[in-house]
Amino acid sequence: MMSRRFSCSYCFVLLFVCSISATCNEDPTIKTMEDFSGYPFQEPSSSFSSSSPFSSLSVDTQNLRKQIDELSTFSDAPAPSVTRILYTDKDVLARRYIKNLMGLAGLSVREDAVGNIFGRWDGNEPELSAVATGSHIDAIPYSGKYDGVVGVLGAIEAINVLKRSGFKPKRSLEIILFTSEEPTRFGISCLGSRLLAGSEALAEALKTTVDAQNISFFEAAKSAGYAKDHDDLSIVFLKEGSYSAFVELHIEQGPILEEEGISIGIVTAIAAPASIKVDFEGDGGHAGAVLMPSRNDAGLAAAELALAVEKHVLDSGSIDTVGTVGILELHPGAINSIPSKSHLEIDTRDIDQERRNDVIEKIFQSAEMIASKRGVRLSEFRIINQDPPALSHKLVIDAMQSAAKELNLTHKSMISRAYHDSLFMARVSPMGMLFIPCYKGYSHKPEEYASIKDIANGVKVLALTLAKLSSF
Ligand SMILES: [Zn+2]
Repeated sequence: MMSRRFSCSYCFVLLFVCSISATCNEDPTIKTMEDFSGYPFQEPSSSFSSSSPFSSLSVDTQNLRKQIDELSTFSDAPAPSVTRILYTDKDVLARRYIKNLMGLAGLSVREDAVGNIFGRWDGNEPELSAVATGSHIDAIPYSGKYDGVVGVLGAIEAINVLKRSGFKPKRSLEIILFTSEEPTRFGISCLGSRLLAGSEALAEALKTTVDAQNISFFEAAKSAGYAKDHDDLSIVFLKEGSYSAFVELHIEQGPILEEEGISIGIVTAIAAPASIKVDFEGDGGHAGAVLMPSRNDAGLAAAELALAVEKHVLDSGSIDTVGTVGILELHPGAINSIPSKSHLEIDTRDIDQERRNDVIEKIFQSAEMIASKRGVRLSEFRIINQDPPALSHKLVIDAMQSAAKELNLTHKSMISRAYHDSLFMARVSPMGMLFIPCYKGYSHKPEEYASIKDIANGVKVLALTLAKLSSF
């Protein structure tokens, strides 16, 4: 009892001294950047104010949880599943919900021709390039409510955290909601961020892109209120030097942080996939009548290539090289018919572009070799996409690391094996990503879950990282 009473009265004294020190400040509501970020004071005012800014970073967890739940109701699948496809009614409602929250946070909101949404908090020096953060809210069919969402609602809350703490940024801070990170509707992943990063090829391709219902991209975009006056999407490209840094908060979508009991993942690199489509053609024939020496079995060629993919990936000698044959189709697909056609789709990823491209070259050589050995035709070997991997920028890594450290949160460096809008933002801005743990690493299914405590930790680190980056 005694010690308790002592500690309470100690708190009271501390509060009292703090409030005195606050009233002694010239401007008690606005902390300077140095004060906030922990960078050296030019004129230290008191021993209390140097440590208090960090303890004042309080996340409104109740509200944030409510927002995550509310946003998940804009879905074309029943809870707990979330299905939110680009430019559908539910997507439009969800976008409206986010724009409203951005407005409530005091941000000025604008949208571009494909529906990337920007919420800006003007800094003290608004002519400087801004610091950006953000993620996506579209959700593949029957997925969960945290993928992407944590990096959008979390970013809005991070701004609210900073505003509540009295912080004023030097560089402007901007939240970006990226259009269509998921490829569900038009088969193009990270559509919004690719365009922001200046993809001429995509701007051109979208002129003729249609969805599975044969609705054109432009028709769909117009129905959601976008792309009204433009058929030239180069208008979306970011001007050079728009952002001095970009950081994305995201659930890990893997099990490492949870298994190791670590609060924050500092992403140092994002692996990038290449996708390849391969077709073999043989003569087919009756499964009984054509004897083995006379066959050229397109199915066996595909099987051999699948094993070759595994071999070349393992031969790279790096754990970071991966390869998957996710689709293998045989034609005509009858038990008593020798496959006359086979179709494979191969995904290979790495954080090292040269090493990954080397694997692609070896897969191609194997495909040619298998075709000639088996007497089948290699009728197609097409690299569908070959995005370069991205490294996080030291400036952003340092800011994320010191933010986690100052907040006393356990953290580790890691690689993002999935790719994100950050991969494309890295082309136009120094980039970094923050991961938070998620239950068993589940993602893209209704069981996806992140605790509000872990989300709040991520929001705090994001807030402090943004504050630091805004001071450079
Ligand atoms: Zn995502």
